[in-house]
Amino acid sequence: MPNTDSLINLFFDLVKISSQTGKEEKLSRFCFDFLNQQKIKAQKYYNNNIFVPAKAWNPIMLNAHLDTVGPAENIEPAEKNGRLFSKGKSILGADNKATLAVILWLLKNLKQQKSKVLDKLEITFTVAEESDNIGAKELNYKKIKSRFVILADSIMPLGAIVKAAPYYYRIEGKICGKPAHACRPQKGINVLPAFAQFIQKADPGRNKGRTLNIGLIEGGSAVNTVPGFLSFKGELRGFNEKFVKKEVSKLKNLAENLKQVFGLKKFEINFILENKGYKIKEQNEIVEDIKKCIKLNQIEPQIVKNWACSDANIFAQKGLTPINIGDGVFNAHTQDEYIEVKDLEKLYEIFKSFVLKIDQKKMT
Ligand SMILES: [Zn+2]
Repeated sequence: MPNTDSLINLFFDLVKISSQTGKEEKLSRFCFDFLNQQKIKAQKYYNNNIFVPAKAWNPIMLNAHLDTVGPAENIEPAEKNGRLFSKGKSILGADNKATLAVILWLLKNLKQQKSKVLDKLEITFTVAEESDNIGAKELNYKKIKSRFVILADSIMPLGAIVKAAPYYYRIEGKICGKPAHACRPQKGINVLPAFAQFIQKADPGRNKGRTLNIGLIEGGSAVNTVPGFLSFKGELRGFNEKFVKKEVSKLKNLAENLKQVFGLKKFEINFILENKGYKIKEQNEIVEDIKKCIKLNQIEPQIVKNWACSDANIFAQKGLTPINIGDGVFNAHTQDEYIEVKDLEKLYEIFKSFVLKIDQKKMT
């Protein structure tokens, strides 16, 4: 049974439990046991999502995700000069275990203080955020009573409050020409010139309201063969739905056009909408509360647009208003990932003061 005696130690305990996407079982079990030990009734689902229902009618949800990116084996967390980092080659996983530690520690303290505010909190710990937000998509929204969800899953300094996150399309493309022996190139249809022109005209990178990236390219069959096949994968992000949809049809038309020009058998490009974008009203009561809680910690709140997607996108799609705040993690998803002890403690204070504000409110 978990028996942790401080926020930092709890964070270390969580970090040491490897939970790369798809392998969250052990961490989910730890959280479930931890909550049970505090006599907080949690539900653990077949997919390892955790849900703590609220007793109050109109609660507020706190969320963190359980999974991390790899490498995530044998993580050895350490502290030096006030910084928490991973000693080996594995990634620390402070994204999102800093928030996970904060929420668990807060629940433990509230329970010990017999705080009634627990009734007004709904908790979700989700799996597979890093892979298409599967856990958030699989939550049972019929059971969820909250209209707002607070999460700190924005890789930004403390103080950031995300006002908008983008629509996200995964791209999968295939180009088929005709392979031929390198000695007889005239017999083949080389796919590379078409692909080169596609890249040139598609203009990857940030352009106006979108980012486009082709990150994986595979093709060809031998050194002495004209490449007759190429596949690629990428992504397209943008805040404005109409604009992004226009970009999608522009790229589809471009592919169709190049197919004709180069006499290809196929130039297929598919766009899979992984999540919609969202925008929250800056002038809402909960954002105002969060701002005050950030200020209490001598940090200036910053309302920002964030190009990254998270479970917040899914929550918004399901009708909740997500307030995603900066988590204070640096170099996330790399072996140099770290978080300052003081930032982890401040993140805790932000959540704590916010929850105390809920306590003072009359929930209708
Ligand atoms: Zn995250």
